[in-house]
Amino acid sequence: MDPSALLDGLTERQAEAVTTPGAPVCILAGAGSGKTRVLTRRIAYRVATGSADPRHVLALTFTRKAAMELGRRLEVLGVRDRVVAGTFHALAYAQLRQWWADNDRRPPTLLERKAGMLARLTGGAGGPRVQPADLAGEIEWAKARMVEPEGYEAAAAAAGRQPPLPAPAMASLYQRYEDEKRRRGQVDFDDLLLDLVAALSSDHAFATAQRWRYRHLFVDEFQDVNPVQARLLACWRGAPPDTSTDLCVVGDPNQAIYSWNGADPTQLQHFARREAGATVVVLDDNFRSSPQILAVAATVISTGPGRGGLLRARRPDGPLPWLRSFDTEVDEARGVARAIRDRHRPGTAWSDLAVLTRTNAQLVAFERALGEAGVPVRVRGGGAFLQRPEVKSALRELGPSSARVDAGLADMAIALRRPVAEPAEPSLLDDIPPVPAAEGPAAERLAVLEELVRLGHDYLALEADGTVAGFVAWLGATLRSEPPRASADAVELATFHAAKGLEWPVVFLAGLERGLVPISFARTDDARDEERRLLYVAVTRAERELHCSWARERTVGARTVRRQPSPWWEEIQAARAVLAAGSAPSGPGEWRNRLAAERSRLRGARGGASKGRDQVEVGRHADPEVLAALKAWRTAAARAGGVPAFVVFHDTTLAALAEARPSTRDALLAVPGLGPVKAERYGDDLLAVLAGARPAATPSRARG
Ligand code: ATP
Ligand code: MG
Repeated sequence: MDPSALLDGLTERQAEAVTTPGAPVCILAGAGSGKTRVLTRRIAYRVATGSADPRHVLALTFTRKAAMELGRRLEVLGVRDRVVAGTFHALAYAQLRQWWADNDRRPPTLLERKAGMLARLTGGAGGPRVQPADLAGEIEWAKARMVEPEGYEAAAAAAGRQPPLPAPAMASLYQRYEDEKRRRGQVDFDDLLLDLVAALSSDHAFATAQRWRYRHLFVDEFQDVNPVQARLLACWRGAPPDTSTDLCVVGDPNQAIYSWNGADPTQLQHFARREAGATVVVLDDNFRSSPQILAVAATVISTGPGRGGLLRARRPDGPLPWLRSFDTEVDEARGVARAIRDRHRPGTAWSDLAVLTRTNAQLVAFERALGEAGVPVRVRGGGAFLQRPEVKSALRELGPSSARVDAGLADMAIALRRPVAEPAEPSLLDDIPPVPAAEGPAAERLAVLEELVRLGHDYLALEADGTVAGFVAWLGATLRSEPPRASADAVELATFHAAKGLEWPVVFLAGLERGLVPISFARTDDARDEERRLLYVAVTRAERELHCSWARERTVGARTVRRQPSPWWEEIQAARAVLAAGSAPSGPGEWRNRLAAERSRLRGARGGASKGRDQVEVGRHADPEVLAALKAWRTAAARAGGVPAFVVFHDTTLAALAEARPSTRDALLAVPGLGPVKAERYGDDLLAVLAGARPAATPSRARG
C-alpha cells in the first residue's frame, strides 16, 4: 500500500503518531480519539515504508474480543495475514509450546478452570458463602501481580484486598493449589505468562531468538496491562543497552477498568518517566461521538477530583441523550426492545445498535425481550445465556429430559437462596438489600442462575407440568440469540467490560441503578472510581444516540426489590439539562459551573416533593386484609400446583392486586405483573378471592 494513503484522513497529531521514528512511543488519549486507528495505521505504515518487516511485528491486546477488533482493522489495511496479532495469553502459549518442544519437554496440560480444583481442595470449608470462583479470582489477582503464596498475606494487606477467606487461610489454599497443580503436571492461564517470563529470563538463547523474531511490539489498551504482562513485555524487549526492540503503546488512563483484576494503570501513566527518550503523543479530538454524548461522558468522568475535561468533538451535533425510568426490569427490557425496533430502518442496521449493562445476568432480560420482538441479537463477552457453562450445567442438573421441571426448579431456587440471608417471609414493603450477599464473579453466577429460575417460572406459567426438555426448547425459542458470527446483522448485547474498544451508532445503557452502577461490592473509593471509569467507557461507545435507563423495581430470584437510580444518574440528568438549555458552554469552567447549578436545581426539585416518583411503591396502599386473603389463596394454589409460592405470584403482584382490587378481567390485566397467561389461568380465582375478601374497615389502616 502507498504509505501516504495511510495518512489520509488523519489529523496532524495522529499522522505524527503514525510516522514518528522515535521509540518507544506512547500515545495517550481519551476515548474515541483514534488510538486504535493510529496503532493499526502505524503498523501498516511501518510495513509499507519498509521500516518494519511484517514477520517481525507483534500486536498485542488483552482480551480475545479486543484481539479480534485489532485483527479486523489490520485486515482492512491489508496486513492482517502478515503480522502476528493476538492476546498476551495466546502468544505466550505459542512461544512456550516452542520452548517445551526445543527442550524435549512434554507440554503440561492446561487447567482451564481453577474453580473445580479449588472446590475439591477446600471441600466446602469456609461455608456456602465462599465460592470457588471468588477463590480463583483472588489467586488470579495474586498471580497477575506476581505475588507468590508466601508473599500473599503482606501483598493483600498492602492492597486493601478483602479476600474470600481470612488471608492466612487464603495463602495456604493458594500454596496447596499450586502444589496440586504441579503434582498433576498442569499449568493454568496465569502460568502461561509466568512460565514464559521464567523461560525468557533463564534461557538466553531462547530469549535472543524471540527478541529477534519480534522486534516491533505494539500494545493497545495499555492502561489494562498487569505486572506480569509488563514483565513479559520487558523480557521480550530485553534489557538495555541490548534492546533493539521498538515498542509502541496506546491507552487512556480514564478507561482503566481492570485494576480489580490486578491491572496496573500506572504502567501507562508513568511510561514516559520510566522510559528514557520515550516519545509521547497526546490526542485530544474525538472522532466517534456527538458533542452531546461527549458532554455526558465528560460529566461522568469529571465528577471525581482531578478528572479530565471535555474532549473536543469532531462529529456533528446529535440528539440529546434519552433518559428513562421504568416500573420493572421487564418493562425496561420491553421498552428498549420497542425503541430498538423503531430505530431499525433503511440506513440503520441491527448491528448499529447495542444494549450494554453492568453484569451479564442483566442481559438475559434483553435477550428475551428482543427475541420476543423478533429482533436478532448477538451476545458478547460472557456469551449467550444458554451457552454459559453455569447455565448448561444447571440445566443438566434439572434431571433427564422427560422429568417434570418444576421440582428441579424449586430445588434450584432453594439452593440459590441458601447463602443469602433472607427474612423468613420476605415482605415486598421491606427494603431488602438490592443484591445477593455473595460478591464478585460468584455473585454474577448466582445472578445468572436466578435468571434461569425466573425464566423457569415464566415457562411454568405457560405449561404447569412442563418437562425439562420442554423448558430447554422454550428457552431456545425465547432467547433466540445469533451464534457469534461476525457477519450476522444483529443487535449486540454486551457488558460494559466487553464493550471496551468498540462503537455503535446507537447505544442503550440499561440498569443504571445503585447496586449495579456502581456495583454493590465496590466499597472502597478506588473501586468506586473504577466503576465510574467503567460507566465512562460505556457512554463513550455511542456515536449518535445514547439512551440511558433504570428500573424502579427488579426481581432478584424470588424477591422483588425496590431500586434507586445510580448516584451518577443525576450527573447525567444535569448534563442533559445543560445541553437542553441550548447554547454550548464556552469552556470546561463554564460547563462545570452550569452543571453544578443544574445539579442543585434537580436536588431542590426532588427534596420539595418529599418522595418523588422514584420512591413511590406499587402496592403501598394495599389493603392488609385483602392482601392476607390473597396470600392464603396463593399458598393453596402453590401447594396444589406443587410449585413454590412465588411461581404463582410475586408479593408485589399480590400487593398491587390488594391495592387496586380489580373486579373485572380487563381491570385484572391492568395490574402490573399480571399478564394474559396468568389472567387466563388464575383470573377467576383471583376475582372470587377479591370479591369475597372483606376490605379493612377504614382506608387509614392501609400503610402509608
Ligand atoms: P477507544 O478509547 O474507545 O478504544 P480509540 O481512541 O481507540 O477509542 P478509535 O476506535 O481508533 O479510537 O477511533 C474512534 C472512531 O473514530 C473510529 O470510528 C475511527 O475510525 C474514527 N476516527 C479516528 N480518527 C479519525 C479521523 N482522523 N477522521 C475520521 N475518523 C476518525
Ligand atoms: Mg481503541
